[in-house]
Amino acid sequence: MIAPGATLGLLGGGQLGRMFTVAARTLGYRVTVLDPDPLSPAAEFATGHLNTAYTHPGSLDELARTCAAVTTEFENAPAEALEALAVRTAVRPSGSAVAIAQDRLREKGFLRDQGLPVGPWAAIHSAADFDAALAAVKLPAILKTARFGYDGKGQATIATRADLERTFGEWRGVPCVLEERLALEREVSVVLARTATGEIAVFPVAENQHTHGILDITIAPARIPEALAVEARAIATRVANALGYVGVLAVEMFVVGGRLLVNEMAPRPHNSGHYTIDACRTSQFEQQVRVLCGLPLGDPTQHSAAVMVNLLGDIWGHGEPNWEAVLRHPGAHLHLYGKHEARPGRKMGHVTVCEATLEQAFHVALALRRELGITDAA
Ligand code: ADP
Ligand code: MG
Repeated sequence: MIAPGATLGLLGGGQLGRMFTVAARTLGYRVTVLDPDPLSPAAEFATGHLNTAYTHPGSLDELARTCAAVTTEFENAPAEALEALAVRTAVRPSGSAVAIAQDRLREKGFLRDQGLPVGPWAAIHSAADFDAALAAVKLPAILKTARFGYDGKGQATIATRADLERTFGEWRGVPCVLEERLALEREVSVVLARTATGEIAVFPVAENQHTHGILDITIAPARIPEALAVEARAIATRVANALGYVGVLAVEMFVVGGRLLVNEMAPRPHNSGHYTIDACRTSQFEQQVRVLCGLPLGDPTQHSAAVMVNLLGDIWGHGEPNWEAVLRHPGAHLHLYGKHEARPGRKMGHVTVCEATLEQAFHVALALRRELGITDAA
C-alpha cells in the first residue's frame, strides 16, 4: 500500500486529471502532473507540474524518481512513455491495456477474440480493403480513424463507396475502422474499478445521450430493464478481467434491438461517470486513487438519482453563463474545469442534479438547461 503523503504521477492534465488530483489531494497525497499545456486544469490543484511533452526524457525520469505510482487521464498517453515508467515505478493501468484501448483496430480485435458482442465492422489499412469492407458492412456506415479520435472527432458518415474513397484519401490513408451505422435505442456505459488482486467494484449503469458525437446528458441509473443492466455490468467485468486491468475502466455500449453491443472502452475515468462524484458513496476519481495506491476499494453504491448535464463552450457565447440560476437549485452540483478559453464543443464543466427520483432530477436538469440556454436535444 502506498500511504498518504506519497507523491503520485499523472500523465495528462485535463479535467479528468483535475478531478483525480482533487481526490488524491483530499486523501493526503501529493500529485505531479505531466502536461505540455501551461494552463493545464489539473496543474491548478497539483503540487507539481512538469510542463513538457509526454515523452520528454527528463520529465519521465523525474516522475520515475519522485512518484510512488503513475496513472493517466487520457487514452492517448504514449504507450511507450507508460512502458518506460513501468520499469522504474508502478504504472496503472498498464501500457499494454492502454495500447489496446487507444487503437480502435486493436480494441475491436480484442472484443471479437473475447467473444464479446460488437456491431458489424471491418478494418481498412489501404484501398485494397474497400471491397471486403463494403461486403462486410452495410451502408450507411461510419468511418473512424483507428487512433486519436474523441468526442466524435476523426469520424465521418459514409453513404457511398465514393464517400469512402474520398474520406480515406482526405485522411491520408491512416488506418481506420468502418462500422455499420446502427439504429441505437439507447447508449449506456459501465465504469468500474479493478485492483491488482482482481477485486472489482462496478458503478451503476449510466445512460448517455450524445449530440454531434459529444456527450450531452448522463442519466443514472440507466432506464433499461434490470436484466440488461446485469448483462452490461457483466460485459464490463469480462473486459476488465480479460485485460488483467488495474485501474478505472469505462465500457461504452449500444442497445440495438433490445441487445447490448460493445462500442468502445476508455482506460480511465469517463465523462459518463462524473455523476458518481455527487450521487455515489465513492466517486470514480477516488476509486482511481484507491486502486493506484493499493487502498481498499470504495463502495460504488448510488445514493441519489442523478442527471448530469455537460457544459460546453457554446454557452459562453454571450459572456459568462448565469451560474446563479444553476446554484439556486438545491440538488444541483456545479463543476467547472478552470479552462481559460471557451470554444464551441469544448468541455468546460458539468452540473449533476441529485434528487430522490429520476423524474425530479430530470425536471431540474431540463429547467437549468433552459436557464443556461442549452438547446434541447433530448
Ligand atoms: P468517441 O467517443 O471516441 O468520439 P465513439 O465511437 O464512441 O467515439 O462515437 C461517438 C458517438 O457517435 C457514439 O457515442 C454514438 O452516439 C455515435 N456512434 C458511434 N458509432 C456508431 C455506430 N456504429 N452506429 C451509430 N452511432 C454511432
Ligand atoms: Mg465514445
